[in-house]
Amino acid sequence: MGVTITGSGWLPEGNLWHSTGMTHMHVAGSIHADATYPAPVWLTRPDDVNALSPTLWSSGVTREADGVLSVAGLRVTDLAEQVGTPAYVVDELDLRERARAWREAFRGWTVYYAGKSFLSTTVARWIAEEGLHLDVCSLGELTVALRAGLDPGTIAMHGNNKSVPELRLGLTRGIGRIVVDSDDEITRLEWLCDELDITAQVMIRVTTGVEAHTHEYIATAHEDQKFGFSILSGQAMGSMLRCYRSPRLNLVGIHSHIGSQIFDTDGFEVAAKRTLRLLAQFAQETGVELPELDLGGGFGIAYTKEDDPASPDDLATGLRSIIAQECRATGLTEPAISIEPGRAIVGPAGMALYRVGTVKSVQLGGGTSRRYISVDGGMSDNIRPALYAAEYSAALASRASTAEPVVSRVVGVHCEGGDILVRDEFLPGDIRPGDLLAVPASGAYSRSMASNYNHTPRPPVVSVRDARITTLIRRETLEDLLALDAGAGE
Ligand SMILES: *Cc1c(COP(=O)(O)O)cnc(C)c1O
Repeated sequence: MGVTITGSGWLPEGNLWHSTGMTHMHVAGSIHADATYPAPVWLTRPDDVNALSPTLWSSGVTREADGVLSVAGLRVTDLAEQVGTPAYVVDELDLRERARAWREAFRGWTVYYAGKSFLSTTVARWIAEEGLHLDVCSLGELTVALRAGLDPGTIAMHGNNKSVPELRLGLTRGIGRIVVDSDDEITRLEWLCDELDITAQVMIRVTTGVEAHTHEYIATAHEDQKFGFSILSGQAMGSMLRCYRSPRLNLVGIHSHIGSQIFDTDGFEVAAKRTLRLLAQFAQETGVELPELDLGGGFGIAYTKEDDPASPDDLATGLRSIIAQECRATGLTEPAISIEPGRAIVGPAGMALYRVGTVKSVQLGGGTSRRYISVDGGMSDNIRPALYAAEYSAALASRASTAEPVVSRVVGVHCEGGDILVRDEFLPGDIRPGDLLAVPASGAYSRSMASNYNHTPRPPVVSVRDARITTLIRRETLEDLLALDAGAGE
């Protein structure tokens, strides 16, 4: 097929990475910047390939005078030495600042952190300390939250197919809200409440018909998908009335989540309008104004320099005015509003740190080539590029470089052509085995969606504050994996 491969297959031995005075390898000598595959139109050539765009990196990340990146005062070279690679690194103060910014911008409202984006007992406690509530959507997430010692009243439970054990655990522990997603769930809740002789606090998840401009798999408010009750079809009203009339359920309001990684604030505003109209219609039918409205999460973050997310303040201002206006128009008293950011809190606070293993240049024909940089992680620690065609950025982290930037593709170790971490990025032309590469905005949906594909132990999540490391989740080991293999024996 005329595809030729050149490159360095240099493999390290033992601790060679950490040896000082590593010789400058002549890596993939066939790479010439002018022959490299052209960048996609959205990707601009950086003026300075060592510069860090503040929209991409957590506030504690800087490049030290000698070129090494540091997080909250800790050099990534030291960090890699202590915890190994790949690793997820969370900037604790940055995460807390973001949580606080959402809480402050939406003062008077309730901010739930969407735990599915990343959850550990420590992060659950930070979130609670910053005054946020927590969303969970599985027995596992609920168990982590309870183990963290969170007030159950601050927990809301989601899911389109909640199991009896998770509902029972939530109900017996007195969690604050159950967001009901189907008629079967209403039936299940009624008999569980009968059995436990309690009343459940429920919201109805509705779909508003908003077509959010995001990937199909993370858009959740159009009609043809599994979540919620459609407003348009009348199912939402039907389920609201059923819950309202149930002696075992206390219907407190409705919930809408239009999708994830949404930049267009219009989507949230339309959803707010449609849900408020539904509340007004319900009030007309029953004479009762439901007290709560949850507008969900999905607020976009910057994964590349081209992404330009709205600030919590701008979002809050827009939503507040729409809600005030719509309540005036419908005569409703303003309900208590809540939102559920996940990614926007933990995403930018975390980065993934990898070690470069091989660099090769693949000839694509037409005189162009693409540079593949293979790192020691991949789709097992970040499935989003493969799953949603998500774009990421990357930077050389263990040193600065004066080499020309080259459009490069960062790939993992797995046995899949689609095992891509960063599809296109300008990286220094002299990247070589042993270098550390950092991928910003990796705090959300990376570890939480990680797999053991190719029997790969999942990387640890560590946080850094004042140059000190705290392990949030330790690195998985091959022994952990073998412990599940019933035939492994001794
Ligand atoms: C996933 C999800 C969120 C959080 O989405 P982000 O994109 O992380 O903000 C909030 N609410 C519900 C119901 C969700 O499913």
